[in-house]
Amino acid sequence: MRAVVFDGEVRVTERPTPRPAPGEALIRVLTTGICNTDLEIVKGYMGFRGVLGHEFVGVVEECSNPALDGKRVVGEINCACHRCRYCQLEMPHHCLRRSVLGILDRDGALAQYLTLPEENLHIVPNSIRDDVAAFTEPLAAAFRITEQLSIGEDDRVVVLGDGKMGQLCMQAVWLHTKRLVCVGKHPWKLDLLKDLHINIARHDDPVEPGADVVIEATGTPGGLQRAIELVRPEGTIVLKTTVADETPMALSAVVINEIKIVGSRCGPFRPALEALAMGNVEVRPMITEAYSLKDAAHALRRAAASDVMKVLVHI
Ligand SMILES: [Zn+2]
Ligand SMILES: [Zn+2]
Repeated sequence: MRAVVFDGEVRVTERPTPRPAPGEALIRVLTTGICNTDLEIVKGYMGFRGVLGHEFVGVVEECSNPALDGKRVVGEINCACHRCRYCQLEMPHHCLRRSVLGILDRDGALAQYLTLPEENLHIVPNSIRDDVAAFTEPLAAAFRITEQLSIGEDDRVVVLGDGKMGQLCMQAVWLHTKRLVCVGKHPWKLDLLKDLHINIARHDDPVEPGADVVIEATGTPGGLQRAIELVRPEGTIVLKTTVADETPMALSAVVINEIKIVGSRCGPFRPALEALAMGNVEVRPMITEAYSLKDAAHALRRAAASDVMKVLVHI
């Protein structure tokens, strides 16, 4: 099969088609989204070597479960061992021996085929197009926020960051409260939210402090500092992007104001698929470019450009 492999550089190459282990399905990939995590991996994050990609929609070609056979699916990316301490505490996302699709010890979705445990798969309703279904994984990550904390209509929320993750977080939170504002640097990205009637602010605009929840999705160390300034005493900051740079930070305000800081990673697929099927979340304007698998190396370079949001690869 053809696959996009990272082995210190990105190459489109031939690889043996993977064989599903017991309990796993073989999936023919239709469309894969490129995510900032892929771009970080190419810079050395996680030390990953293998097939890139983890945001996909595909068709089950081989599996032992007849309910899934031949179905169009999306897949949760964390594959758990079911035996370790955290698996037994029902925290499979934190399994000590997990593999993660295209990120840790498991070949990913920028390939004609991938394998995943059947339990990780979710059937995609017919009403959701492939391009839209490819957003299920990152949208699920946004829905993790409302799984971790309860946000009600009286809560005031600030989202820092107008990138892909910031925009998905905005839309997920919008379903719970309209009292929110997205702060970003890129007028054309903020305009996508304006079209959805979501409040926006430029990063140098004054933003009223005292928010109940601040979601940090800028991916920069400065984002956390701004979040600390904007959140109310005993409020919550949600960290949605990993910051690779280690920067010394003044955390005394966190103590003085008794701020809660919540890390937030992968989330539930079911509400994400529901929101996409119902049209409660609009992802299509975020798709700026699409390429075929043979041009995937170029697609990855384009995904890093500042004039681009979501890049899709049609397999
Ligand atoms: Zn991702
Ligand atoms: Zn485990």
